[in-house]
Amino acid sequence: MRTRMAIWSGKMAGILSKSMGNDGTTIPGVVARKVDPLFLRHLRKTAKTIIYITGTNGKTTTANLAAHLLRFAGKKVIANLEGSNMVTGLSAALVRQTPLVGWRVNEIAVMEVDEASLPKVVSECAPDYLIVTNFFRDQLDRYGEVDLLIKKMKESLRTFDIKLILNGDDPFVHRFSSLQKENIYVGLDANACPFQSYSMAESKYCPECQNELTYTTIHYGQLGHYKCSCGFSRPEPNFSVEKVENGIQGVRLSVDGVSYPTTLKGMYNAYNALLAITMCRTLGIDSKYIQDGLVSYHKGNGRMQEFSINGVKWKLNLVKNPAGANVTLSEYMLTKEKKQFIFCLNDELADGEDISWIWDIDLEMANRSEVDIYIASGKRAYDVALRMKYAGIPSEKIMILPNLKEAVFYTKSKALPTYVMATYTCLSPLISILSRETDKLEKGDENIGTATIPLLPRYLKPVWGQRKYHMFKKTMRMAGNYASSRRNK
Ligand SMILES: [Zn+2]
Repeated sequence: MRTRMAIWSGKMAGILSKSMGNDGTTIPGVVARKVDPLFLRHLRKTAKTIIYITGTNGKTTTANLAAHLLRFAGKKVIANLEGSNMVTGLSAALVRQTPLVGWRVNEIAVMEVDEASLPKVVSECAPDYLIVTNFFRDQLDRYGEVDLLIKKMKESLRTFDIKLILNGDDPFVHRFSSLQKENIYVGLDANACPFQSYSMAESKYCPECQNELTYTTIHYGQLGHYKCSCGFSRPEPNFSVEKVENGIQGVRLSVDGVSYPTTLKGMYNAYNALLAITMCRTLGIDSKYIQDGLVSYHKGNGRMQEFSINGVKWKLNLVKNPAGANVTLSEYMLTKEKKQFIFCLNDELADGEDISWIWDIDLEMANRSEVDIYIASGKRAYDVALRMKYAGIPSEKIMILPNLKEAVFYTKSKALPTYVMATYTCLSPLISILSRETDKLEKGDENIGTATIPLLPRYLKPVWGQRKYHMFKKTMRMAGNYASSRRNK
């Protein structure tokens, strides 16, 4: 009865909160947990198999992709696709997807879990599978903190009988092997991928004995083929990528002789796709379903999102930390075409108030003759410009335009391919501005950039403005939710 009360009050709170114009994303979870403090344990009642996905970068993409592929293969899936990945967010997803009476029977739960929240989440409901993507220093966290975080995560899993799907190319992730669970490793072959090399701010030291690791191949950051004199070395992967290529819609992976075209842009997404593919294969999904599922997947906003403005290509990617920024840059600088580059930096709570992490980005790598202009934008545009100057970029190529709209309009006038990298709170205003400029919007076909309402009749055109408002509200909600969940920590 108490549980039922928790669900009802959670649902009620969600409706009330929404009607008052609030986001309501985590509210149902917060309220349900007031009534039933260990509410998340009921996840077991609604899913036979529970999968958690955690790590620093790529967990949202991996979780969304895995959920999509499983649904595509006909499985009933419960997921927290709103990106609320702490215990209240997971509880909210459960409240929202549970009917007023009884429990919906899903086959699989696919939940993205914040690294720091994993022990709490696991203590309430242990998963059957845990996927670990990678560990990078998040902004200012130093190695010691990553080390402590991993120790805590491992400790929380010790007593449970679970299977681990691990990115074996990351020595940090490989530390989970010592838990002696059933491990499934993934990795990229030595010559699988033409990542652009960049100087690495990540630690390359053995997590077991602190000696320097020897690498025969580095894909990016500390990810690659490593070994240590103490015997710690990259595990032989159960699923490995032989080749990653740029296909028509996105990267194409060849995994153990099977080709998987995807809609994911950016070489670094090879790891996310590989983890999702491995999850599905482990659950016995036929690779035909996985192949078809991958090409029908359209991912969330601001992740290597493309826009076409006056026939010119624009690309936008979210960056949160130096490792993410470096892979973004290496992707942006792959082609030798003439281009423009914009870096939008804010210092709100959700972006990280301390912006000194930008000094760990390898902007030196982006100092290329083919880049026509470098725009520093956002509230901390001057700091970005200073960083660019120290990267050796000629001052006459650097332009400071703190206002995002001005930055976009100035760049647009040059009609060159434009690559934008932005922190969290710059993302929704940018998507809104770029979507408004996107060519295809006027033609009525599927537009890149805004959420599409496919059956929108032409005579409903006047409500388009309204639709944009909803989009904006939705993205604002993401930002708001993130900030509030941070505060709740
Ligand atoms: Zn060692």
